[in-house]
Amino acid sequence: MKKERGILFVLSGPSGVGKGTVNRALRQQWNGLEYSISVTTRQPREGERDGVDYFFTRKEEFETMIEQNQLLEWAEYVGNYYGTPLKYVEETLQSGNDVLLEIEVQGAMQVRKLLPEGVFIFLVPPSLDELRNRIVGRGTETNDLIENRMSVAKEELEMMDHYDYVVENDEIQLACDRIKSIAIAEHCKKDRIKKQYLRLLEVE
Ligand code: 5GP
Repeated sequence: MKKERGILFVLSGPSGVGKGTVNRALRQQWNGLEYSISVTTRQPREGERDGVDYFFTRKEEFETMIEQNQLLEWAEYVGNYYGTPLKYVEETLQSGNDVLLEIEVQGAMQVRKLLPEGVFIFLVPPSLDELRNRIVGRGTETNDLIENRMSVAKEELEMMDHYDYVVENDEIQLACDRIKSIAIAEHCKKDRIKKQYLRLLEVE
């Protein structure tokens, strides 16, 4: 029997909320979930590998990808381009696997327009104080930058309204459990699966 189309899950949230950590943990515990590797023009950080964390590319190549409609969505974030390769997402959904995108809010809103049947999840910190602690805890920011990031984070939090689900990241495992529960429920949604079960209504 042909597998049903997979579901696209989009995970966003303010900077510092722990999206990357939750994303990595989820991928280890969710069979059949494929992660879409983004293309970016930013420099690799220490330990990041091309084709694993991102496809690292140059600005000109990224702009060609935009022109040739190779990206499902793209955004400029803190001076760099980030985008989602369209072909991979389409082929993976078509093959019946779920796809997870971990992207910032502007990109998520473009995906919402193109693929409204996707599931949009917004990760939130338990409180603003906790978010500040996490940003300070990274130890990489000056006081001014911390305040700047906090005000960006507050703006990003306002975008929550455009998502289907809000998940608190109080503890990584709890956040993962909530997201996996959302996925199970979405797979049981009547409108997604009713075609499969219409045969039950056939008169014998
Ligand atoms: P970072 O540079 O810290 O890896 O990522 C910066 C931001 O870009 C994060 O919020 C991350 O979720 C977002 N991001 C990563 N890949 C993509 C993408 O393909 N598209 C968009 N719109 N945002 C992305």
